[in-house]
Amino acid sequence: MKNSTVDTHTLPAQWADDEPLLVVDDLYVEFQTRQGTVRAVNGVSYSVNAGETLAVLGESGSGKSVTAQAIMGILDMPPARIPRGQVRFRGTDLLKMPDDARSQIRGRRVSMIFQDALSALNPVFSVGWQIGEMFRVHRGMSKRDARKKAVELMDRVRIPAARDRLDDFPHQFSGGMRQRIMIAMAIALDPEILIADEPTTALDVTVQAQIMGLLAEIQRDSDMGLILITHDLGVVADVADKIAVMYGGRIVEEAPVHDLYRSPAHPYSKGLLESIPRVDLKGQELYAIKGMPPNLLEMPTGCAFHPRCPYRRANCETDVPPLHPVGSGRGSACHYWREVLDGGHS
Ligand code: SF4
Repeated sequence: MKNSTVDTHTLPAQWADDEPLLVVDDLYVEFQTRQGTVRAVNGVSYSVNAGETLAVLGESGSGKSVTAQAIMGILDMPPARIPRGQVRFRGTDLLKMPDDARSQIRGRRVSMIFQDALSALNPVFSVGWQIGEMFRVHRGMSKRDARKKAVELMDRVRIPAARDRLDDFPHQFSGGMRQRIMIAMAIALDPEILIADEPTTALDVTVQAQIMGLLAEIQRDSDMGLILITHDLGVVADVADKIAVMYGGRIVEEAPVHDLYRSPAHPYSKGLLESIPRVDLKGQELYAIKGMPPNLLEMPTGCAFHPRCPYRRANCETDVPPLHPVGSGRGSACHYWREVLDGGHS
């Protein structure tokens, strides 16, 4: 059994030795819409440990953000419904927790950064007030002490002249600086798990690299688990330990990051890798996976990727591939993973 620093009555001080810090186990999420039931997440399982970075990769509609929202407990239910699955944090299923206990964990122990900092920040309050609010509300600090903490955090996320900018409003900062403010708020209470949902999508490439570097540095210093949600395989290579690739609400490949880069075992991951622009191929046409992501109201039969897959055979249209073990810590939901791994046709 592990020792734990948990001091809240809502979580056990110890939990099973072989259980990672956060475990998503066979999770299903669906939405009732006028057009029918949208099955957004279909049996997703992944885990993250302290000090580990998991990148969750996929196109929009793949279920990666909905899974994160289920972990955080911020889905509107209804129309969302979680018919099956668990989200275990320190061995306790968050989905079974009463709302008040869950809200004690949200933001404090498990925190999240959103894609669009401008709409996530409140435009009518200064950034110092918004960062300080975390300490006033959750730690009961005085206004003066909360301001001091806000300056410390703005320094930590490298906002220049933090003290002078405390009373500035979100619109007075650049996109990259706003994202730093979001990161400051997300790490204010020293969470054990940080979920970053497309944290660099709206930023230019140089600022993207700075933000990714900052997240990696914060994680190293604090030993928190980081779940990095992205559609861009290019941004996670240097920071992630392992990758879960999602398609149509399922994980289609999971692997240590370098294994996946070296030799993908699923045609979709292979296509994503080949779509990354490369300096050595300058002048050549950029590869793009043909077709569109599936309509979640009318999922293709069999393997959801089959309408776009260059490897497909007849049985792909009827048989849903399970996640085959393909090596240490690796899995691929493809009937023909050996062929893909061996670098067969594409
Ligand atoms: Fe392609 Fe078939 Fe593999 Fe699906 S199961 S990824 S369609 S080869």
